[in-house]
Amino acid sequence: MDLKELTIKKLQKRGVSIDSIAEITLFLQEKYCNNLTLEKCREYVLNVIEKRESIYAILTAIAIDEAAEKGLFDKEVNELITNDEGLYGIDEILALSIVNVHGSIALTNFGYADKIKPGIIKVIDHIGKQKIQCHTFLDDIVSAIAASAASRIAHYEKKDN
Ligand code: MG
Repeated sequence: MDLKELTIKKLQKRGVSIDSIAEITLFLQEKYCNNLTLEKCREYVLNVIEKRESIYAILTAIAIDEAAEKGLFDKEVNELITNDEGLYGIDEILALSIVNVHGSIALTNFGYADKIKPGIIKVIDHIGKQKIQCHTFLDDIVSAIAASAASRIAHYEKKDN
């Protein structure tokens, strides 16, 4: 299996479909781009995911969440991750490796999505808080992908039809 395919499968296995990310991109960008559709957003989300920086960040983030669920880290570190401590911040830093290659519009959208947690971000955040699964790293990754796709749309799509 190639890494892009593996990445999409892993996201789906962790409860995050391409469409659920595209919905966030649509939410972030529809007010700036007329006639923006979910279909179009899906294309841009896939463009973001297939980049090497994204693939590495997504696979690493999910691997950390899964390892923390299994308690594989030293107790202190494991608790930092599973408790999603507010000041931990390493989850955001990892996600920035996706955002950083997509410019300042991606960065501002990333902060915005992280703050208001639209759609699937809220869902996985809730599952994480309930300790059903660990999504400490995944929620930031989803924000980063959606925000980066929104930035690409801002750069490549015409503002008015
Ligand atoms: Mg997080």
